[in-house]
Order: sequence, then C-alpha cells, then structure tokens
Amino acid sequence: VARQSPQMQSGKITVCVRKRPINKNEELRGESDIIETGKESLSVHENKKKVDLTKYIEEHRFYFDHVFGDECGNFDVYNNAVDPLVDHMFEGGNATCFAYGQTGSGKTYTMLDSQQGLYILAGQSIFERLRQSKSNDIQVVVIFYELYLTDVYDLLNERNKLHVREKGDGTVCIKDIAEVSISSVNDLAAIFEYGNKNRRVGSTGANSDSSRSHAVMQIQLRKPKGNNPIGHTVGKLSFIDLAGNERGADRGDAQNDPTTRREGSEINKSLLALKECIRALDLGKSHQPFRQSRLTLVLRDSFIGNSWCVMIATVAPNTSNCEHTLNTLRYADRVK
Ligand code: ADP
Ligand code: MG
Repeated sequence: VARQSPQMQSGKITVCVRKRPINKNEELRGESDIIETGKESLSVHENKKKVDLTKYIEEHRFYFDHVFGDECGNFDVYNNAVDPLVDHMFEGGNATCFAYGQTGSGKTYTMLDSQQGLYILAGQSIFERLRQSKSNDIQVVVIFYELYLTDVYDLLNERNKLHVREKGDGTVCIKDIAEVSISSVNDLAAIFEYGNKNRRVGSTGANSDSSRSHAVMQIQLRKPKGNNPIGHTVGKLSFIDLAGNERGADRGDAQNDPTTRREGSEINKSLLALKECIRALDLGKSHQPFRQSRLTLVLRDSFIGNSWCVMIATVAPNTSNCEHTLNTLRYADRVK
C-alpha cells in the first residue's frame, strides 16, 4: 500500500530511497541496471534460476515517501526531503537525516560530499534564512564526530576520544566535544574538510576506510542565555553517514579476524536499534529502546519528543549488488 504524501502525514518520519547511476566499471563487467524507479515506488528485477536452471526475472516492488532515481541530483533530494527539516529546526525542533545502505551505494555522496552534500545545501538555506530574519542573536554552531565500535571520536579536535555521559534527568551528553561557531557556508565547508581528514583509516592502511564507522555532522542554532556567550540550543539538524550495512561475511576479507567480526556485530546492533528507535518515534511511544546501542544512545534526542527523521536508503543499481539492494530496501520498508 502506498503511503500518503509527506504533506498529508504528521511529518515526523520520512523514508526515501535514492538510486545511484550505474558506473563505467559495472558496465564494463557486463552488469546491467536492475532498478526501475517511479516517483514513490521502485522495482528490482532479480535474475533467478529455477531448479532446471532456466532463468526468470522476479520483480520486487517497494513504496516509499520519495524515490529518487539516478537522474536526481542532491538538490532534488534536498528540496523534497531535507528542506522541511530546516523548517523544523527553525521552529525549535530536533531534526535528523540518516543515509543507510551498503558501501559504494552513495551515502557519503548524498550526505557529506564536500561540494554539494546535503549538509552544505542545508547550510546554504540556514544562512539564507538567518539573513532574512530580523533577529540577529542566533549563532550557528557545528559539532562533527565519528562513532567506531562503541567509541566516539571528535573530528574537530585531533580525533580525541570522548566520553558519553547519561545524566540523572535522562539526557545524554558527549563531554568536552569541540563546538565550533560558524558564520557562513564557507566556514561550514572548511570545518567539514578539516574534520573529514580526521576520519578513521582502516587497519590495513591500504585504503582509507571510513565505511566501518558512523559519522555525525550536527548543525545547531544557539541563542545567548545569561552570560553564557555560546548560548543554549534552540534547534538542531544532524546529518548521519552510517556505516555500510553489508555483513562482515560479505566483505571477502578476513572473516575470522576478530576486529572485523566485532565491527560487523557492533554495526549490526546499532542499525537494528536505529530501526527500532525510529519506529518507536513514529508510533509516539514514550519508551524508546535507545540504550540498545551506542549510536542510538548518543542520538537519543533524535528519537524523543519534537523530533523529525528522514531516512535516505541508498542503493546501487547493478546486478551483482541485488542481494544488498533488497536487504537495504527491506530495512527501509520496515522503518516507515
Ligand atoms: P558510500 O558512502 O555509500 O560507500 P559513496 O558515496 O562513496 O558510497 O559512492 C560511491 C561512488 O559512487 C563514489 O565514487 C560516488 O561519487 C559515486 N556516486 C554515488 N552516488 C552517486 C550519484 N547519485 N550520482 C553520481 N555518482 C554517485
Ligand atoms: Mg561512504
């Protein structure tokens, strides 16, 4: 059953899918594009073999709030799915945008591309709104951190390892995280470039591998309070480039390597908890299972009260990624 269009629903949870274009290498390998997209639905054409080895195509169809085909750019994604989050932030709310999908499906391109990632497009809109608004007492502050296994690293302060503290009133804070004031989109881009250099490099050292960690870039609106110059938060918007959702066993590298296994199980746990938390938010439950993983604990504010979430599931279009694509779509289907 198709969902109502986002304007007609409460607006709390929006689930989108984005398909990236097939690339040259995939074409050279003779792979084809097996995903057909519409405005709010997509179909995956899976090549299957019967017992007698004759082939047939099985069609899997899914419905979402928005489906972005490979002709869509980040600006289309921003306008349709993310701009409402900026409105919500300016109304004092808490807004979070997740990119979920296998490694190579376009999560980073969507969220944290240094030229045109969603965080930059949001930054443009935020500073535009501030220019137009009469009140000039609002400050913009950025934090940027990475979650690897159960550890939080400050990307804006020499990759310091940070402590997460749950206070008596249930709020969760990351102690001593660097909060950087910015006054333009250029500042935002520069801060991102700086922090991005501090991202995790894989243990092999061969390829700089950030696909096993989650990255969180959060933009906060602050208003001065008393003699606290940096003020209190009156709205936040987070962009989360999640770790790749593929299982360790699919990665072809040392399955027996304990670190790889631990990474896989921690990622799995956090992605399952994330799904539960978003569903609980959608259903308006008062008890969110955010303690089930470090990711959801750190992001507790994203799942309570006046919070809105956008989940962007990213998929690759090629034949050999069919299984990953179906896994991603089934997960996203369950979030909505
Ligand atoms: P992930 O972060 O999910 O591992 P990336 O964002 O790094 O994936 O994308 C993998 C590759 O595909 C990159 O070279 C990226 O530039 C390209 N890519 C991803 N999405 C798109 C898109 N929508 N349009 C064009 N190129 C894309
Ligand atoms: Mg990436």
